[in-house]
Amino acid sequence: MATSADAQIATGPITFRDLHLRKVEELRGVGEKRTADLHKRGINSILDLLMAYPRRWVDRTHECRLKDLQPGVEAMVLVEVRSVNKRMTKNRRSLVTAVVGDGSSRLTLTFFNQPYREKQLREGLTISVFGKADEYRGSLQMTNPVVDLIGDRTGRIVPIYPQSEEHGIKTWEFAGWVENALSRCEARGILDPLPESVIAELGLLPRHEALRNIHMPDTMETKEAARRRLAFDELLRVQLVLVGRKHQLEREALGISHSTSQKMVEQFIGALPFPLTSAQQRAITEISQDLVAGHPMHRLLQGDVGSGKTVVAVAALLQAVEGGYQGALMAPTEVLTEQHASGVRKLLEGLVVTDAENLFGSRPLRVEMLTNRITGEQRRDVLQGLEEGTVDIIIGTHALIQDAVKFNKLGVVVIDEQHRFGVEQRAALRDKSMLNPQGLPIVPDVLVMTATPIPRTAEMTVYGDLDVSVLDELPPGRTPIETMWASGEQSEAELWAQVREGLKLGQQAFVVCPLIDESEKIEAAAAEDTFQKLGFGELKGLRLGLLHGRMSSQEKETAMETFRRGETDVLVATTVIEVGVNVPNATVMVIESAQRFGLSQLHQLRGRVGRGGEKSYCILMTNYELSKEAKKRMETMVETTDGFKIAEVDLSLRGPGDILGTQQSGALNLKMADLSRDQHVVTVAREAALRIYEQDPSLTEPMHLTLRNYMLTLFKNKPQWDKIA
Ligand code: ADP
Ligand code: MG
Repeated sequence: MATSADAQIATGPITFRDLHLRKVEELRGVGEKRTADLHKRGINSILDLLMAYPRRWVDRTHECRLKDLQPGVEAMVLVEVRSVNKRMTKNRRSLVTAVVGDGSSRLTLTFFNQPYREKQLREGLTISVFGKADEYRGSLQMTNPVVDLIGDRTGRIVPIYPQSEEHGIKTWEFAGWVENALSRCEARGILDPLPESVIAELGLLPRHEALRNIHMPDTMETKEAARRRLAFDELLRVQLVLVGRKHQLEREALGISHSTSQKMVEQFIGALPFPLTSAQQRAITEISQDLVAGHPMHRLLQGDVGSGKTVVAVAALLQAVEGGYQGALMAPTEVLTEQHASGVRKLLEGLVVTDAENLFGSRPLRVEMLTNRITGEQRRDVLQGLEEGTVDIIIGTHALIQDAVKFNKLGVVVIDEQHRFGVEQRAALRDKSMLNPQGLPIVPDVLVMTATPIPRTAEMTVYGDLDVSVLDELPPGRTPIETMWASGEQSEAELWAQVREGLKLGQQAFVVCPLIDESEKIEAAAAEDTFQKLGFGELKGLRLGLLHGRMSSQEKETAMETFRRGETDVLVATTVIEVGVNVPNATVMVIESAQRFGLSQLHQLRGRVGRGGEKSYCILMTNYELSKEAKKRMETMVETTDGFKIAEVDLSLRGPGDILGTQQSGALNLKMADLSRDQHVVTVAREAALRIYEQDPSLTEPMHLTLRNYMLTLFKNKPQWDKIA
């Protein structure tokens, strides 16, 4: 589909589209076999090849001669393989030994459990080796060093490409093809997708230079400058999609202009036993403005555990009801749904709905609950009420998105603990919309809530198509939770004694047993074991309750209810209590095998206590030798209760993949950008995207033509981008 504009460019610098159309098999040295190998790695075009960046760069200016190696000091050496030998050790592990030399001396490398090294390290091969040399029987040896095959590559900085046995491509072969491809682009140059003004203003390297320097840098500094430019492009690409999607929704989707009357909301707030925090007030105002506006709201409410998100959600639901619409609140677990239903009913007691439109006068506000436990007559009744519009507010689990559920006039959707839902589940509730007289869907306003704080930059990258309200303040009167980390049996015994002491004064405790291999069954068994063990042992004489995912809904509710009423002292539970559970009298949280949990999960669990006025404690128990990372997690928990700080550490420990869900971060496809290192770049890219759309909402101005083509090339299978473009 060549446009006349494309034809013009074809004689000038090379476009991304040109690179996309040229196939790898055109390159010297890429025959049938190698073409197939490259295809297996998802590399089909020259563009794919140029965007397959090195995994690492070996800086040969820092290499050391073998004769200068010091025992106990890490160093990199460039050596030739002299001989390779493989055998089995006594305990049946494979042991590969290689003798290497560089003309100045020799060194022995030993590899345990890496049998493939025998094939990889052939005699005569030049390799770069990084590790710590130790003295062994009078000569030096490195155990399990990092090895990079660099072939006969010269140059000071050698790029190392991902290589695997399976595809058989050697890093130097790959580098050769990239060099070949780049040299062919040299004469015409590669067109930069960014307008010159942006490049100049932000002091970025031109794109062509960045590609050259990421693959063939002269120094580590030029490599880093190239990485920054490429990272910027990746982040800009993400922002262009997100900001574009947001603008599109604002422009095109049919929303509801909700009632401007705040009567019910005011009545509700007036009846609360506490004043709102200023953060809550601000969030309610922001949401209310969105609701009144004609385009659909798409907002994230972020607030640490205990910051009081529920009240904000209820205010939004009420504003819908005020104007004759229905509100829905979806929560990820039955336990939380039931808690919400009873809590919200209590908060809304006595409110009436005045039905101005059809003059039926006023009636009591109707709040219902829908979970899979609600069956038979009761379920039919709720479903009918939703369809007829007599149910004003519905609180439910994912049961709400089943086909049988039909709304009369769904106006506001709130999704609590949204990270627990999949993307499709969230969309499904929004899609239960009404049709306008022309048969077009009217999109309800959506508020998603999360207590998993994520760093601002990650938030901009993942939720960049949402507006954000933040509750950055906890209600007054909370005493900070004290966190202790106990490892080993001795300190455990002491801690249980301390727990008993605390409970004597009428307070309550949670004991959490970890998730085991994602199996609810084993997990439940472990919880039962702990329940027995504690009941007959450390916590003998106390009233214990048990809660896990394999219990029936009825049993779960009973366990939760007796605990809430204070009829049990200790609730032994699995992570089913992780989100949302609110029992202000519980002041002790014991987490067993705490090393098995991630930071955000630990933070969530800890957030179950410290909800009342009493001082609360969180006890992390670990009984194994911990990895460095696990230790860091425990230390972070002990050091701080600030969810945002915890999120920063989490991001640096695990990377965005785990935090944001692999699905989400996979879709981002960030190769060079690093959300924890490139925070500033994220902000700059966001601002650049906003500015670009401001000048040119459809990206059709000549100065954005290359950028537009670049996006279309990269997102060839992504219809949403086609729509915005
Ligand atoms: P989360 O943000 O974790 O969902 P909740 O909405 O469950 O928090 O609120 C936690 C607790 O704080 C509840 O017991 C709630 O009644 C109470 N709460 C909410 N807002 C305030 C406030 N402004 N002042 C005092 N307590 C509040
Ligand atoms: Mg909550």
